Amino acid sequence: MNSVPLRLSSPVTAVARVGPAKAKFLGKLGITHVRDFLYTFPRRYDDFSKITPIAKLEAGEKMTVRGRVKSVKSVWGWRGKQRLLRIFVDLEDDTGLLSVTWYNLRFLPRQLWKGRELFIAGEIENNDTGGPAGRIPARGNSEGPHPERSRGAGEAELDAGLERTRRDRTRNMPPQFRMRSPALEFADKSGEHTHTARITPVYSETYGVTSRFLRYQVKQLLPLVRSVPEYLPDAIRQRHQLMGIHQAIEAAHFPSSSQELAAAKLRLRFDELFFLQLAALVRRRNYQQQVALPIPANSALTKKFIARLPFTLTGAQHTALQEITADLGKAVPMNRLLQGDVGSGKSVVALYAAHLTLEAGSTVLYLAPTEILARQQAASFSQTLGQHRVALLIGALTKKAKQTIKQRLQSNQPLCVVGTHALLQEDVTVSRCALSIIDEQHRFGVAQRSALQKAATTDNTPHLLSMTATPIPRTLNLTVYGDLDISVLDELPPGRQPIKTQIVSPGERDQVALHILEELHQGRQAYVIAPLIDESEKLEVRSAKQTADEMQKLFPDIAVGLLHGQMSSDAKEASLRNFNAGALQLLVATAVVEVGIDVPNATIMMIEGAERFGLAQLHQFRGRVGRGKAQSYCYLFPSSEAGIKNPRLQTLARTTDGFIIAEEDLKLRGPGEMYGVVQSGFGNLQVASLLDYPTIKKARQSAERLLKKDPELKKHPILMKKVEQKNLVTHFE
Ligand code: ADP
Ligand code: MG
Repeated sequence: MNSVPLRLSSPVTAVARVGPAKAKFLGKLGITHVRDFLYTFPRRYDDFSKITPIAKLEAGEKMTVRGRVKSVKSVWGWRGKQRLLRIFVDLEDDTGLLSVTWYNLRFLPRQLWKGRELFIAGEIENNDTGGPAGRIPARGNSEGPHPERSRGAGEAELDAGLERTRRDRTRNMPPQFRMRSPALEFADKSGEHTHTARITPVYSETYGVTSRFLRYQVKQLLPLVRSVPEYLPDAIRQRHQLMGIHQAIEAAHFPSSSQELAAAKLRLRFDELFFLQLAALVRRRNYQQQVALPIPANSALTKKFIARLPFTLTGAQHTALQEITADLGKAVPMNRLLQGDVGSGKSVVALYAAHLTLEAGSTVLYLAPTEILARQQAASFSQTLGQHRVALLIGALTKKAKQTIKQRLQSNQPLCVVGTHALLQEDVTVSRCALSIIDEQHRFGVAQRSALQKAATTDNTPHLLSMTATPIPRTLNLTVYGDLDISVLDELPPGRQPIKTQIVSPGERDQVALHILEELHQGRQAYVIAPLIDESEKLEVRSAKQTADEMQKLFPDIAVGLLHGQMSSDAKEASLRNFNAGALQLLVATAVVEVGIDVPNATIMMIEGAERFGLAQLHQFRGRVGRGKAQSYCYLFPSSEAGIKNPRLQTLARTTDGFIIAEEDLKLRGPGEMYGVVQSGFGNLQVASLLDYPTIKKARQSAERLLKKDPELKKHPILMKKVEQKNLVTHFE
């Protein structure tokens, strides 16, 4: 057919029946080259493998029928303003008669001669409407002909006529079942089934590209797979009983059984996760080949630090301190993620690491996602570290103030610089920076994180401590964070009472307001999160102001404050300071309070328009209260009655366990949306799931073993190429 032999790397236009127009449609599905046909896997499968006699059909089931054409009638009619060709076919086998309708397939009637044998596959419907297509009003229907259908009046006549002849033939027994637009194969043509009588792949479709077309193309292109080398070492394949790559690709499209399909999926999933693990481990190794400034452990200092704290550390905090001390002591840079639910006490762990580093005579950079948080941390750090050793670097500082900090960074005085992304923009260069800390690290992009590491332009790479309050399902730890070491704060400080969470219907508001007033009068404080307004910071600010006015009216004798992103830096600072000091009792805020703010006396969190926020974010809001010993409350106000049923709010009301919430969130949104998964490049997993823990573990072990034997992957050049390409999709050229 083709003069030039097709390769996997050929463009789609080299394929028969693909012209420029088709190529454009295919491009929408990401199919630009021959290999993409084979590597675009079915969205799902229809199990049409069993051929069912007509007498045994069941309505609602998807089934394959083998039958002979008994009669064909084509009728032109209208659907709205469009001409519509309907093809009515009676199909019979030895057990009965089935009514089949196809639409607009002009070529079809010519091919449906009487007695020709067909396989058809699709959903079985009851033929209870009387008419063959179920759209013809019954005779004597009081509605009469539909005005829009008047042009097709003759159509009804024809259909009815057809129906009469059918009844005559079958002794007045209309077929019990019908199928509309089933997949079709001719028995005299199909040696091997593609569309019917098998587990049939169903692909993502787009305008101009049907699953039928894709099945046809994939089928004829599949032999090209045989040129793909098997890149997975035999040992790994045997250990995990993985199918060969050729068979896996073929079976993923055209499985011969559900078992074969499962095995094919397993192989392909394994591949993706295996590449991901290899890449993570190579990244990790590369990182560890860099040189860090070792910060020697100092047990006297550690003891003193712990003794001076106003509380006793939790066991989890102790462990984290030990892990960090061990890491810092090495000349290999630490790369540790500190995970802990909101309020689990991550700050003190960071403070410890900073303290140890300063005492060793080196500098620390601390990156916070918001100015408010940077201010709060700088203030609290300077209490322990001493004011002369802490500097705040935020965008709002004057040029001169920034200059001073930069100069101090050049001096020999070790310093802890707490800042926002301004830290990254101010071409800060730091000598003897031994430690970078990133708070709420999921709020920063990969680029920002590496920019921070580069700010420390010394010959050493700083140790890196990232922190996240978003509890992470363990599966993601091995994948998204596969190159990091992880410390988990899995216990809350003692004496915390679980926050009581309530979804408040509009009718219950007054009652809740009363309770809040009582709490406020007892000296407690409250936050109100203003409704989220899409895409517009301005509108959001207006809504916050409005909410503040309403609150002030509701609670006339209460000091109400405001906090939002458009306030000047000083005004923000004043609001926060006043709230912290108790001069403000109720703080109306936009989403800016989401992260980090720590005012233990605040015990009430009210969230307006709650159903508009994401689950993780709601959990973070709630985490602003319940930080002290007093009972805390979270009130979720949906913006409408319907919002009460919102699954995110229901989840939040049901549990305070961050891990359960994270798992729920993962289920509701999928991993792609979470935890910066997309920006970290994990969004493009095709067949694997970041929740597939068993396979992830297998892939991890295999990758570790392989790299141990062959650290440079010299014997596995294809795998090395995958790692370098940072392309997770199974190798396929
Ligand atoms: P997060 O993990 O959300 O950053 P923080 O570090 O802000 O949490 O700590 C939350 C609150 O708990 C702070 O007020 C902090 O002082 C307090 N805290 C931290 N550790 C302990 C502890 N071991 N015992 C009692 N309170 C603690
Ligand atoms: Mg924090």
